[in-house]
Amino acid sequence: MAKLGVIFGDQLNTDNSVLRALDSSADFLLMGELADEVEYVQHHIQKIVLIFSAMRHFKQELSDAGWSIQYHRYESDSKVVSFTDLVAAAVEEQRFDEIVVSWPGEYRVLEQIRRWEKQFDVPVTLLPDSRFICPLDEFDRWAEGRKQLRMEFFYREMRKKTGYLMVEGKPVGGQWNFDKDNRKTWKGDPEAPSPMSFTPDEIVEEVISDLEGHVEGFGELEGFDWPVTRTQARQALSHFVRRALPNYGDYQDAMHTDEDYLFHARLSSSLNLGLLGVEEVCDAVEQAWKDEQAPLNAVEGFIRQVIGWREYIRGIYWREMPDYAQRNALENSQPLPEWYWSGETRMQCLRSAIQATRRNAYAHHIQRLMVTGNFALIFGVVPKEICDWYLAVYTDAYDWVELPNTLGMVMHADGGLLASKPYAASGKYIQRMSNYCSSCPYSVTRTVGEEACPLNSLYWDFLIRHRERFEANPRMKMMYRNVDRKDDQELDDIQTRAAWIRENIERV
Ligand code: FAD
Ligand code: SF4
Repeated sequence: MAKLGVIFGDQLNTDNSVLRALDSSADFLLMGELADEVEYVQHHIQKIVLIFSAMRHFKQELSDAGWSIQYHRYESDSKVVSFTDLVAAAVEEQRFDEIVVSWPGEYRVLEQIRRWEKQFDVPVTLLPDSRFICPLDEFDRWAEGRKQLRMEFFYREMRKKTGYLMVEGKPVGGQWNFDKDNRKTWKGDPEAPSPMSFTPDEIVEEVISDLEGHVEGFGELEGFDWPVTRTQARQALSHFVRRALPNYGDYQDAMHTDEDYLFHARLSSSLNLGLLGVEEVCDAVEQAWKDEQAPLNAVEGFIRQVIGWREYIRGIYWREMPDYAQRNALENSQPLPEWYWSGETRMQCLRSAIQATRRNAYAHHIQRLMVTGNFALIFGVVPKEICDWYLAVYTDAYDWVELPNTLGMVMHADGGLLASKPYAASGKYIQRMSNYCSSCPYSVTRTVGEEACPLNSLYWDFLIRHRERFEANPRMKMMYRNVDRKDDQELDDIQTRAAWIRENIERV
């Protein structure tokens, strides 16, 4: 009897373990565009179009390679809305002696898979997800018994394992991490290259027309230019390595009103869809350093994000789920301001980051961490609300990567499991790293008063509210010393201003 392999929409890698385990001449594949996946948060419309277009292309490639595939296209009134419905329909039509899947990207989907064996009376084999270099059991072995799970130590293990930027067992340049060199501000020079743009092809146009009138989504569709095939993703990778990588490190933390991407790669959506592999991306980047086309701080910085942060974040997700998603260590209770969806706020930093997100389904890391993330942290947004927002608005957002980044790194809602201190910052940080403040109606140098930068009072108020939790943290001692320099009147005024902002958040 034949086996049934399920290919999830974000596992479009040609080395997918399901494809390796099955025989194209005897077995069947199943893929589906499902209403449940479209509707469980209000995704950016570009994200839905990207995923369905990449899936249809991949389906075509598999068919051309001789695979038999049953492909369910999105239909708003279809009864097949979940992966379970999809498999149910397939096993009703034909008997299979095994269902084979690769480890999914969401706990929610894993829960469905775990029920299939009993529900369909067919053995289910769950294979490792070959899109990652650190298998989950390896991450658990690394994590076991450690008091703190710090990314930096995990990253060193990945460097040793992969050999990237290593000579004779030691890091090249005598340091593991060159992050301190990567904090320059950008003032228009060197020129920032545009990322590679891909004109929507027939398949993309077909997806757009299938969704029209049925799926609204968040954000703008106009300007959709994402890579939707492996060939395009590889072109985008070469373009990044040639044009942006040399300055990637220096300006990694910079932000600017005129540039949505600066020197960032814009490769996360391709990596997370399986169109690019971790090793091919890191090989290309390391080669640029070997060829003296890019400096070490850029190349190390990039490789750290991919084999360090990305793998570590995934390890944390699977180790801590399912209760991780419910955590709210700082007991936040503020709803997400409405303008996170519209961008209609007077604060230039947030306005710029959110409007770019609406336009591009993308914001770079520092905008996510220090603008939209920092505001949600110091304002005290309920973690679930801000996590759902991040999951919805970027083309690269999947639960395994979005959740620990938002709930852990940004919101500190896991109590410090992922980050040793919250990344709370006042307007001063944004002023240093961007040009936002110069065109903002608020004054970044003021903390109280109508025209004062809202981030300033919210920052101090955050420290005051959470004093008990954070004042003993050695990395926050300086911050509390600065709080203690303020007299009672100043502290009162700050808290009054912060309370006013909370009450009038939709007008800020
Ligand atoms: P670059 O800055 O050029 O970085 C290169 C690559 O490194 C990225 O393509 C990405 O694959 C990887 N990377 C860098 N940082 C991280 C990280 N912290 N976690 C995982 N991978 C990383 N990334 C996602 O892929 N999906 C998400 O849903 C997501 N949500 C985030 C939410 C918040 C609150 C924050 C602070 C970060 C989030 N990130 C997420 C991480 C990071 O911001 C994006 O990967 C990055 O902005 C993607 O753009 P790029 O390809 O231009 O990245
Ligand atoms: Fe943002 Fe404050 Fe600067 Fe305005 S002044 S851009 S609100 S940091």
